[in-house]
Amino acid sequence: MATVSLQTEKLANYINGEWVEVNESTSVINPATGEEVVQVPLSEADSVEQAVAAAKKAQKEWALVPAPQRAEVLYQVGYIMKERKERLSQLLTMENGKVIEEARGEVQEGIDMAFYMAGEGRRLFGQTTPAELKDKFAMSQRCPVGVVGIITPWNFPIAIATWKSFPAIVAGNAVVWKPATETPIMAYELAKIFEEAGLPKGIINVVFGKGSTVGDAMVHHDDIRVISFTGSNDTGRNIAGECGKQLKKVSLEMGGKNAVIVMDDADIDLAVEGILWSAFGTSGQRCTACSRVIVHEKVKETLEERLLASMEKLTIGNGLDESNKVGPIINKAGLDKIKSYIEIGKNEGAKLLAGGYEITDGEQRAGNYFAPTLFTDATADMRIAQEEIFGPVVSLIPVKSFEEAIEVNNGVTYGLSSSIFTGDVNRVFIAQRDLDTGIVYVNAGTTGAEIHLPFGGTKGTGNGHRDSGVQALDVFTEWKAVYVDYSGKLQRAQIDVE
Ligand code: NAP
Repeated sequence: MATVSLQTEKLANYINGEWVEVNESTSVINPATGEEVVQVPLSEADSVEQAVAAAKKAQKEWALVPAPQRAEVLYQVGYIMKERKERLSQLLTMENGKVIEEARGEVQEGIDMAFYMAGEGRRLFGQTTPAELKDKFAMSQRCPVGVVGIITPWNFPIAIATWKSFPAIVAGNAVVWKPATETPIMAYELAKIFEEAGLPKGIINVVFGKGSTVGDAMVHHDDIRVISFTGSNDTGRNIAGECGKQLKKVSLEMGGKNAVIVMDDADIDLAVEGILWSAFGTSGQRCTACSRVIVHEKVKETLEERLLASMEKLTIGNGLDESNKVGPIINKAGLDKIKSYIEIGKNEGAKLLAGGYEITDGEQRAGNYFAPTLFTDATADMRIAQEEIFGPVVSLIPVKSFEEAIEVNNGVTYGLSSSIFTGDVNRVFIAQRDLDTGIVYVNAGTTGAEIHLPFGGTKGTGNGHRDSGVQALDVFTEWKAVYVDYSGKLQRAQIDVE
């Protein structure tokens, strides 16, 4: 199935343009087969210290390179990623498990981000604005922050890293990046690409290791002025607290409890396709995964029947086999969490219509597979309808009206993505106004973000920042207001105004 290989048995940190070996390491396991793919270093705080020192030194010069020239490196990164798309995609499937078609989509997202952010090198717009006094000029401009720390999760090992590192780099910062220990290969490959693309030494530094050591050292390092984090709510809240004490800027993208609303006038077959793709794609391990379907009671039975029929056709197995549509769960802990929610759902009184079990026989025996699962007759307050499960589990919640559907959608602590299937244009516009998530889809599932739009959520999903889109630049830049008085005399703002 795989046509590429990693060509190394142990990864190394990338610090100041050098590959630095670390004694301690742990196995990266292919979740589809249970086999070791590579050893990943378990660095300590001293590696962070070295990476930050290198980044701090290199950033001073990088900030003086004109942004359009900084962007040239990103164009090169994009070209190399494009050339290596298949290699990156297969390696991504090996470390993360997602099916190859989705892995290719994720790598494409990184390529798109490279070219989009390279374009920002010729924009990075500030504003000029009239000054209130004569012979005075006023403008605002974006400035790099300095050294930025990025901490990324395992479920999108390359896309999320590009959402964060590319805007940081084009804006003139240097980066220290800690990828998830579960999925370090994309970080290793991307560091090699940066090196080949000619990024100066020290502008990107990759330090492998646990969040509790490497991540924690980054969060507490005085010379890292921004932490951009994507991951779970518990970790994000702790990081935010620590950063708050240090007045360190922190951008958080965290969990979701995303819903598809299916109204009584919806195209049901289209809704079924949207639900299948967004609930069971990446085995439900997406922050934007659909895990609730809020269905109008008039179409509930029809939707259940058609969903069940379509779920039966989902092929589950190793993502490198092009015929499989659903891959494995990242690890045993993930499987255990999903299993616990099946019991919670049953005990709460939801009706299990399909799935609900780990697949332990046949070819899937060695991997971590969970059958696509459908609960129905869930109520909005049940834990399975409130908490992030991060697996292929979806719960149908029947409602009586459009208004109730919106209320149920908004009645969770998260606010990442939502979707509505309806043919009524008035409902479309009311829904896009009233759904309180950072992303809203109409007549499509809850996944499918494009990189030139802001990505992120409201309420418990984040803290108001956005990844991707031009908005990503806000995380990695400081605004500077500049006044030039060319009157040759002292002019006092607010006082000497005629
Ligand atoms: P996680 O356990 O919070 O880990 C995320 C990253 O944080 C990993 O690199 C982890 O390192 C690191 N980390 C852990 N403890 C840390 C600490 N004390 N200090 C600093 N860093 C620390 O999350 P996950 O399970 O990998 O990812 C799944 C979660 O991410 C889900 O909740 C999902 O919804 C969310 N997510 C959100 C978005 C979004 O944009 N909103 C996108 C994708 C995923 P190690 O694992 O190596 O120890």
